[in-house]
Amino acid sequence: MSKGSINTVAYHPAGMPEPGRLETLAEGVHWLRMPLPFALDHINLWILDEDDGCTLVDCGLATAETRAAWEAVFRDPAFKGPVRRVIATHYHPDHLGLAGWLCERWGVPLLMTQAEWLTGRMTALDSPASLASKQIAFYRAAGCGEDFLGAVAARGNAYAGRIDPIPAEFRRLRHDDILDIGGRGWRIMVGRGHAPEHATLYCAELGLLISGDQILPRISPNVGVWANEPEAEPLSDFLDSLEIFKALPAGTLVLPSHDRPFHGLHTRLDDLAAHHETRLGDLLAALGEPMTAMEVAPALFRRKLDHHQTGFAVGEVLAHLHLLRTRGQVARDLGADGIHRYRSA
Ligand SMILES: [Zn+2]
Repeated sequence: MSKGSINTVAYHPAGMPEPGRLETLAEGVHWLRMPLPFALDHINLWILDEDDGCTLVDCGLATAETRAAWEAVFRDPAFKGPVRRVIATHYHPDHLGLAGWLCERWGVPLLMTQAEWLTGRMTALDSPASLASKQIAFYRAAGCGEDFLGAVAARGNAYAGRIDPIPAEFRRLRHDDILDIGGRGWRIMVGRGHAPEHATLYCAELGLLISGDQILPRISPNVGVWANEPEAEPLSDFLDSLEIFKALPAGTLVLPSHDRPFHGLHTRLDDLAAHHETRLGDLLAALGEPMTAMEVAPALFRRKLDHHQTGFAVGEVLAHLHLLRTRGQVARDLGADGIHRYRSA
């Protein structure tokens, strides 16, 4: 056991669903798993039964494998079709990837928050050339090496490659909206920091929170700075968002997008806040001579990172450095070489 945090949640005893199968967690609430071709190799999706069909929550990555898994789900005896609507918690491709295909297949609307729908649409439309020039400038300023910058230039619009065309029309979810799903009220609670306006769904009657990527049981959700908003300070947003979930009952069963459903919401919220404070302290302690984000990254990420992981790691390091700047503990200088260097203030 590492970090201690793994001890503080209690996993729900439900068996892990095979791809293409439904695992029923509560009356009318089903858990699915879809494959992902990454180190994080799965995503959890949810089906909520209605009187005359069902609502899908999240969609999976746009791959032939996920499409085939969905077709198997639609043949599962526990599946109560037809699909009446598709909800996407946020714009990341493992959540929104197949929304276009699912909405088209069933002739149903997509429900999202406005910022997530807009961000997804706009990210998918970025031309590879404009994206590459923006990203290269951003990662160069962070102190990344030429081999990584070359990989960034070569990968084009990776987001667009993992997602079906996003529906050009959506229905807006707002914080505190109550959706009637199968005769039960599900409250939309918006979290920030991982994504701009991440929707989570809470049902008081069932004591269930569909938390998406906002709250995960073991890994900490990625909170990163990206090239499209290089001065972003998302960690404050993330830490503030933890607070709104403290208002939910301690016994809430949390349904996260990765890993397994769990109890222990309040301790997990405390652990996530403590985890980031520890990392802020680690970074501060590592800053001796002025250092680039890349040079100080080993204070947070000790293992060797591949190119895919480097983008996430730099974003995470910058998120922490930017919060330290907000707090007045770190200063940033721009060198004549165009590279940012950080020092304790
Ligand atoms: Zn995400």
